[in-house]
Amino acid sequence: MSWKIPLSDIDYGQEERLAVDSVLQGRWLTMGAITEEFEQAFSAYTGARYAVAVTNATAALHMACVVAGLGPGMEAIVPSLTFVATANAIRYCGATPVFVDIQGEEDLNLSCQAIEQAITERTRAILVVHYGGYACDMPSIMELAHEHDLVVIEDAAHAVGSELGGIKLGTWGDMGCFSFFSNKNMTTGEGGMLVTNDEDFAKRMRLLRSHGMTTLTLDRHKGHAWSYDVVDLGYNYRIDEIRAALGKVQLTKLPANNHRRRHLTQLYRQALQGIDPQVLIPFENHAGISAAHLLPLLLPAGSNRLAFMESMKAQGIQTSIHYPPIHTFSAYQTGQKNTSLPVTEAIAAREVTLPLYPGMSDEDVLTVTRAIEQALMPV
Ligand SMILES: *Cc1c(COP(=O)(O)O)cnc(C)c1O
Repeated sequence: MSWKIPLSDIDYGQEERLAVDSVLQGRWLTMGAITEEFEQAFSAYTGARYAVAVTNATAALHMACVVAGLGPGMEAIVPSLTFVATANAIRYCGATPVFVDIQGEEDLNLSCQAIEQAITERTRAILVVHYGGYACDMPSIMELAHEHDLVVIEDAAHAVGSELGGIKLGTWGDMGCFSFFSNKNMTTGEGGMLVTNDEDFAKRMRLLRSHGMTTLTLDRHKGHAWSYDVVDLGYNYRIDEIRAALGKVQLTKLPANNHRRRHLTQLYRQALQGIDPQVLIPFENHAGISAAHLLPLLLPAGSNRLAFMESMKAQGIQTSIHYPPIHTFSAYQTGQKNTSLPVTEAIAAREVTLPLYPGMSDEDVLTVTRAIEQALMPV
């Protein structure tokens, strides 16, 4: 399928090619000096004291849950309106995801009231997701967490560069997880980052990332170490130098690209005004600065979403759904709590994600909104 306007597109050019070339010439491919430079640049950008580069955000989420001490018999609170990886990470540790409802049409992030009601003796952590790059109510969530002695993990896969109250998302909680998957705001193909301000957490993350070993292949290559001890049950969640080099370049492009995404989001809002008052783009008056990763559209209640998406497709416009709620998946019919989330279910059924990427022109937005007008027309 060749789309007139795809859902997303990468911003890759000569800089990325040169960066990869220089790694290849250096002849050191696995985690090394470039990875460290990428981590330093990321920690400087986000303001997090420690940044640990990993294979992908799923690995980051898993390690965060391990570091948080999640295990069998424990519960972690999480939204259902997110990618399945957020909840899977809890289950990897043998703990139980407790799904909570979202705020409503204007704010697709989880509701603080719902979080509070879901807290039990067994609750150990809250995993928040900043939907589309729009901030959850972090001040209230952190207050709740302190009151109940809970660890807060931020799934900031959509939120690289987002801020709330001048603080970057991913650094509000105890740990923040970022994704550099192909369709994210900055990408290395596959890749992720785990950030924290806690030194002990950071040390444990570095161990867990590489088999719990006390020395790295690089240390032995440099002749700094002959052997090693294994002091923790670790994983192989390392990134490599090629991706780290791509990440360094992509990070320099991020601020301008996020700015462009916010501009396009504004254009969408303006262009959609007057089309149909029942069609809405959430987060109109959200707090903070969003990375504007997604452009979610809510169709009028009771609309035929499939027919709408088919009509958009016929007009060459790619759309998607974020998300089918996790608690409705077959693999989630056991081992979880909460099977009724009325707000999530009602809103998820109306959601269609529209094209949004920095390379989109202003005219492209109008092409999409004209297609929406067409797709909403009664047949
Ligand atoms: C993309 C995404 C992930 C998973 O990221 P990977 O890097 O592909 O593992 C997790 N959570 C959310 C909300 C995502 O959008």
